[in-house]
Order: sequence, then C-alpha cells, then structure tokens
Amino acid sequence: MKRAIEIIRSPHAGYCFGVKRAMRLIEQGLADYGAPIYTLGDVIHNPPEVERLRSRGVRSVASAAEVPEGGVLVLRAHGVHPDLLREAERRRIRVLDATCPFVQRSQQFAGRFGEEGRRVVIIGDPEHPEVRAVAGHAGGGALIVRNPEEAAVVGPLDRAGVVIQTTFPRDEAEIVIRALRGRISDLLVNDTICEATEARREAALALARRVDIVLVIGGRNSSNTRRLLEVCAGAGVDSRLVESPEEIDPSWFDGIERIGITTGTSTPDWLIDAVLARLDAIPRETP
Ligand code: SF4
Repeated sequence: MKRAIEIIRSPHAGYCFGVKRAMRLIEQGLADYGAPIYTLGDVIHNPPEVERLRSRGVRSVASAAEVPEGGVLVLRAHGVHPDLLREAERRRIRVLDATCPFVQRSQQFAGRFGEEGRRVVIIGDPEHPEVRAVAGHAGGGALIVRNPEEAAVVGPLDRAGVVIQTTFPRDEAEIVIRALRGRISDLLVNDTICEATEARREAALALARRVDIVLVIGGRNSSNTRRLLEVCAGAGVDSRLVESPEEIDPSWFDGIERIGITTGTSTPDWLIDAVLARLDAIPRETP
C-alpha cells in the first residue's frame, strides 16, 4: 500500500515583521508617488520578489547619486549609513525609512556608546549592509568581529560597548563576547539580536528532527536563509535551499515520508504557495 507524503510547514515562515513593514512602505510609495521609486541595493534578499518589484517600477540603485533630485528613495530594513541621509537631504530626495525598528535600536546603542567615549565593537559580518550602517552610526572607528579568533586580537582596550548584528546566532555571539572580555576591561554588551530570527532557527531545528527532507525557501544571497539551511543540515537531515519552484527535483522525495518547509525572513507568501503547488504537482507517494 502507498501512503501520501506529508508536508509540514514551520510555524515561522514568510516575511518577518521588519520585512513586512518595508514591503508596506514600498507599496505606499508606489501608491502615493507612482513609479519609479528607488531602493538602495535590493530592498530584500530574495531575487524572485526583487524581480517582481522591478516590473512594477521599483529600481535598485548602488548609491543615492543615482536617484534623481526630488525622487523617492526607500531605505531598506537593514538601514543605511548616516552620510546617505545627509546626501538625500541635500539633494531633496524624499526618503521613506523602512529601517527595521530592531536595527534602529542597534544604531542608537552604537551612537550612544560612541558619545560616551566607548569603542564600539559590532559582532557580525563586516560585509553585511546592516553592520556597515550600524558602524556608520557609531561615529567612526567601530571594530567589527565575527568570531572568537578575531576577538582574540582586539585591543587591549579600556572601555568598549558591544552591539550584535540582529541575525547573528546567539550561541556564537556568546563565544565571541567571552573572548572580548579577556581583551577589554570595561565592556558593556547590548544584546541586539532579533528574536524573530532566533525563533525561526529554533523552529527549523525542531522541524528538521521530524522530517526526512527540509526545503528552505529563500534567496541564496540571504544570510538568514543560508543559516537556516546550516541549522537543518546540522541536524543530519537532507536540506535543500530552494530559490524558485523550478529548482525542485522530484527525485529528492524518493522513499521519504515527510517534507519540512521553512523560509528565510524575506520570502514572500506567493513564493511559498508556488513551491507548495509544485510539490502538489509531483506524484508524492511513498511505497
Ligand atoms: S530579521 Fe528581525 S531585525 Fe531583521 S528585518 Fe526582520 S524583524 Fe527586523
């Protein structure tokens, strides 16, 4: 007798709060000012959704200099360097600020540490736009460390304040903080990790333990999507990153009983539905 393969969806899937807010602002910008409107870099790390927005007149630019004077610029959830805001004001660019409030919190802590004369240390990926923007708010001279090896060569310093990239795994951040404590005598830490991403990772791990394969739907350029993939693969389950439904290979499901579905924080519902529709179209029975 054959049994249908079960699909189990993580309770934490689809846009997070900050991305939902950013997408609402984009819609509002299009409705209020008409196309084109501009975003600095891709507004979210999800190529199919970026493509859909492009077809509606949302243009991704590399710098504010590419936005015409008087144009509309939406700041993405990762936030921007304060220099960009100054340039936008000078060129009378209308700014819709979609910086996630959790990222704004990091920026404020970094600014405050800088004003107090503390060296700002950011735990995170130096290439990530959020981290670069937070470093800008620190007023210059911020140190960025992403692992205990880098922390071990900091300083030594008298006074420093730590903020953490919102999507950084908490267990890894704690190891880096321990290494920093050995190098900095007076160290204040503000835990700026976003609970939404922590909860998503925990749910993905619980899901991975219940299924035979996990599909992580999201952009390859999305760091939180790649982290989810690592978490699921780390649980010893076959884990696949799926950017679009066409990538799904029916042979992945040979002889399996349960498929788990989770997504990065910037994966739209329409893409999740398209993946589920693709799974529905594949004969899903196990002997
Ligand atoms: S992951 Fe967290 S910090 Fe980042 S945009 Fe979403 S809610 Fe905001």
